[in-house]
Amino acid sequence: MAGKKKTVKVSPFKNEPMTDFSKPANRKAFEKALKTVESQLGKEYNLIINGDRIRTNHTMKSLNPANREQVIGVFFDANEELANKAVEIAHERFLKWRTVPAAKRAQYLFKAANLMRKRKHEFSAWMVYEVGKSWAEADGDTAEAIDFMEFYGREMLRYGADQPLTKVPNEKNELVYIPLGVGAVIPPWNFPLAIMVGMTTAAVVTGNTVVLKPSSDSPTIAYKFVELLEEVGLPKGVVNFLPGPGSGMGDALVKHPKTRFIAFTGSKAVGLHINKTAAETQSGQLWIKRVVAEMGGKDSIIVDNEADLDKAAEGVLASAFGFQGQKCSACSRAIVVESVHEKFMSKLLERAKKLTIGDPTNYTNYMGPVINEKAMKSMMWYIDKAKQEGGEIVFGGTNDDKIGNFVMPTIVDNVKPKDTISQEEIFGPVLAVIKAKNYDEALDIANNTEYGLTGAVYSKNRKKLERAKEEFHVGNLYFNRKCTGALVGVHPFGGFNMSGTDSKAGGRDYLLLFLQAKAMSEKVK
Ligand code: NAD
Repeated sequence: MAGKKKTVKVSPFKNEPMTDFSKPANRKAFEKALKTVESQLGKEYNLIINGDRIRTNHTMKSLNPANREQVIGVFFDANEELANKAVEIAHERFLKWRTVPAAKRAQYLFKAANLMRKRKHEFSAWMVYEVGKSWAEADGDTAEAIDFMEFYGREMLRYGADQPLTKVPNEKNELVYIPLGVGAVIPPWNFPLAIMVGMTTAAVVTGNTVVLKPSSDSPTIAYKFVELLEEVGLPKGVVNFLPGPGSGMGDALVKHPKTRFIAFTGSKAVGLHINKTAAETQSGQLWIKRVVAEMGGKDSIIVDNEADLDKAAEGVLASAFGFQGQKCSACSRAIVVESVHEKFMSKLLERAKKLTIGDPTNYTNYMGPVINEKAMKSMMWYIDKAKQEGGEIVFGGTNDDKIGNFVMPTIVDNVKPKDTISQEEIFGPVLAVIKAKNYDEALDIANNTEYGLTGAVYSKNRKKLERAKEEFHVGNLYFNRKCTGALVGVHPFGGFNMSGTDSKAGGRDYLLLFLQAKAMSEKVK
């Protein structure tokens, strides 16, 4: 059995700082990155299996959501046959990659983090063009991607070190964490860099190999990351890049008997479908597939009668409309205690009027477009539905789809707790305001959906906050601050109920989802 393992020294984890765009030098640097990216728009990108570039007969275009006539990148769609090939090759590569020492695997992540840090604005600029992020939102996404690599690299050193076991006489005992096998990594488009990087690198650093199927709305940024992994020398076939349609090719990845686990982040419907598909044992399959599924949210902020209403209005606004409300953690319901409703609404509307919306390449725009035409139509459908059910549109409610997918920030007052827009995830800039008689009722309403991702309470009353700790059933609960903006290492992230498997990305338990523990015992006398 292996002797005592060497400990590898690294500096403690620190979050990547956000860029201060009030500084002219930083703005200039970002503008330069936007120009660089603009000059590269519209190129063709191949599939990558085992380092080989592959083309197919089908292409799809990734479009700029702020200007649908602008093509960001053209991608070859993988088919089921290629999905099967990618899993087979990833399986072969796994047999070697799993033997690479943990410390060496971690080094790839540290190198990739460093390189991404050097090209930070360029990565962010791709997201401004491809998914319509504002500068600040894109910068936060890239910072989080860097954080994931720095954090998971260090975490692997911890899991790769000697593990503490109770001592017994005449036996030498050891526990090691070993990888699972081939993982299908299936990220969403809304944190197209951070979540994709987080799931991919967690799988890789733990010794697994990956078939990465990016979202069809954000394949370019994923390709740029795979290129970066190649640059830092990650062996071929450890990460394979396979864009293509979810149904068909995506299903083939999930079904393949050699797929050992699926790391998915996306909607509830797709997550449940993947969970069901993965549960069906295929011929020749040797294991129960592990599914990590992080899904949707219907997140609430409670505004208590004892709240600082200015701070509450600011927090609700930022949580509801940052990145156009397209965050799983976004506040889509403000539950306001009746006695302060009027005052709170006037503060909220006063702030909403100041929101700027337009092309996100322009630094002064706080909000950009929503991801695609289908999403825009679905948001408008929900706004109509809200009206039919008695909601009152007190702000926004319209869209502008001349060249891009722009939905105005929308506030719907007088929403009832069981109305459609109070229950279903809209995933856009639509905030439902619900009145509650008192704090008791506010807590009941907060828990009345099938989701349980994030939530917040604004109150100066300590007892009420303590009560929320017991009763408000969400994976990430915040007090007197917005319910978005979880930081790696600081706020491990993941939700309850139909919000998913509560993986707590960016936390100390996360890598365990990609590992299995082997205990070994040797008689010594
Ligand atoms: P989505 O479910 O439509 O797609 C997610 C991914 O699944 C995409 O890559 C898509 O191509 C793929 N996919 C679709 N059908 C598939 C199939 N049959 N087999 C395999 N893969 C398939 O979600 P989206 O629109 O990309 O993202 C938005 C959703 O993600 C929202 O519901 C949001 O709340 C959720 N989300 C959750 C978290 C979280 O941590 N809980 C974080 C971000 C986003």
